[in-house]
Amino acid sequence: MTSENRSDLIPDTEKTNFIRDIINEDLRSGKYTKIITRFPPEPNGYLHIGHAKSICLNFGIAEDYKGVCHLRFDDTNPIKEEQEYIDSIKEDVRWLGFDWGEHEYYASEYFHTLHEWAIFLIKKGLAYVDDQTPEEIRINRGTLTEPGVNSPYRERSIEENLELFERMKNGEFAEEERVLRAKIDMASPNINMRDPIIYRILHAEHPRTGKEWCIYPMYDFTHGQSDAIEHITHSICTLEFENHRPLYDWFIEVLPVPAEPHQFEFARLNLTYTVMSKRKLLKLVKDKLVNGWDDPRMPTISGMRRRGYPPEAIRNFCDKIGVAKANSTVDFAMLESCIRDELNKTADRYMAVLDPLKVVITNYPENQEDWFDADMNPEDPNAGTRKVKFGKELYIDREDFMENPPKKYFRLAPGAEVRLKHAYYVTCTDVIKDAEGNITEIHCTYDPESKGGSSPDNRRVKGTIQWVNAKEAVTAQVNLYDKLFTEENPDRTDEGKTFIEYMNPDSLTVIKNAKLEPALKDIPNDKAVQFIRLGYFIKDKDSKENALIFNRTVGLKDSWAKIQNKN
Ligand code: ATP
Ligand code: MG
Repeated sequence: MTSENRSDLIPDTEKTNFIRDIINEDLRSGKYTKIITRFPPEPNGYLHIGHAKSICLNFGIAEDYKGVCHLRFDDTNPIKEEQEYIDSIKEDVRWLGFDWGEHEYYASEYFHTLHEWAIFLIKKGLAYVDDQTPEEIRINRGTLTEPGVNSPYRERSIEENLELFERMKNGEFAEEERVLRAKIDMASPNINMRDPIIYRILHAEHPRTGKEWCIYPMYDFTHGQSDAIEHITHSICTLEFENHRPLYDWFIEVLPVPAEPHQFEFARLNLTYTVMSKRKLLKLVKDKLVNGWDDPRMPTISGMRRRGYPPEAIRNFCDKIGVAKANSTVDFAMLESCIRDELNKTADRYMAVLDPLKVVITNYPENQEDWFDADMNPEDPNAGTRKVKFGKELYIDREDFMENPPKKYFRLAPGAEVRLKHAYYVTCTDVIKDAEGNITEIHCTYDPESKGGSSPDNRRVKGTIQWVNAKEAVTAQVNLYDKLFTEENPDRTDEGKTFIEYMNPDSLTVIKNAKLEPALKDIPNDKAVQFIRLGYFIKDKDSKENALIFNRTVGLKDSWAKIQNKN
């Protein structure tokens, strides 16, 4: 081992956490001269925001310390794994802004080595083939308070074990007929050490190794050894693997591995109003309770991308929540606050009306055309302006008109004057209704002196509302989203309900007839925009030129800022 001090690799950054402290120490002491981390997903589902935390941590460290981060698929369970998941994981990591370069690995590439190491254990008398049924194995494993019971097959001879393991590999037995177990200690207080299963029979085709194998290594026999094979210096994983560490260390100690990685555990991300287990997310997809893995209400990276969350905002969020050793739950409002912060800086502004109410400007000449300059983003002086065309017939949002308004209602009402954003002051003169008494349109007069929305004679109006030109506007479907669950902790079990029963029946509102500024028709699919006063939006991937669809990413109101101000 070298003792070269590589403190020159320690980045000058405000990001600190206990893992970075350990790495800094390992570089100063010369324990390592290059940092290698990995993000190790099992390709059995799409990535979620919890994975984003792990990705930002592992790739972020590699980036900051001029090291590398491997993308390694821990693909030990062919029954649940699919190429679709592998592809989506790669797309999501890339979209988040990280690059594994040539370091794309699969635990299945190590199946031969792992198989040799299993034989190595047998030859050392440290593994045996067990003929007990799964039920017997489970019962004989003991409990948290009682030790386990040795298997009657535990003392098989090395020769018999070698022969049986070979026959397992050759497909001579049915699934669950036999397993290979490490011979450690059935009385260990740590259940993971009670002769864990390390190989099982699965007559299943693997997405990468095909029909080559009918025995597969267990995750616990694969994960740590894969880290060793890849010379990972800091194996970072979540707290639920803390109890597995003694087992991983045991394998590393007894096997002829090329390196000795050390595992560090951190707290997984939990979010209010969100489920994060892949099993539960899969159920939502399979039972069609959402529209696929990338449904914008899903906490998946692909769902968030479709919803319009910018990757910068997700990375920022992951930096903000930090890395701790104790589990906790983060307020969903904090994630939304990070989304707003980013979009406020970057999203161009447009006008849109979700529930259109026709307005006729009665004194506006038929053939007049006014083009107004509207700023693209008041937060960004370089964003420039766009032209918006005024006209005699407009739409405003039905919410912005009241026939009998209460006091302090500053929007449009009979006799009231408001500013139409960027355009003119208008005063409501008439309300037109159909036979049933529904308001069908309203009539206004405009003040030609207020051109550009400026006050003609220091006359003040309190309300400014958005509008679109009725002739020019494009019609669109707009999807408004709310939380997928009404319960802050949908995983709770104390009420005897399943998480499905906590689903929000109103998590999606589809608006069919929104009217938008015509420029929105040509907005690229990945370009977030703000609809003034309504929130941030993004074009949906199913949007077509003649059938526009926009998703609301998040509203404008910041409930997180309110929560913080209260504290
Ligand atoms: P789930 O529990 O959602 O099914 P998993 O742990 O089985 O997830 P993996 O594909 O094994 O999913 O996860 C890959 C990596 O991401 C692991 O290192 C895991 O510790 C980490 N990870 C998973 N969920 C979270 C989370 N909520 N917060 C932080 N890291 C996570
Ligand atoms: Mg896992």
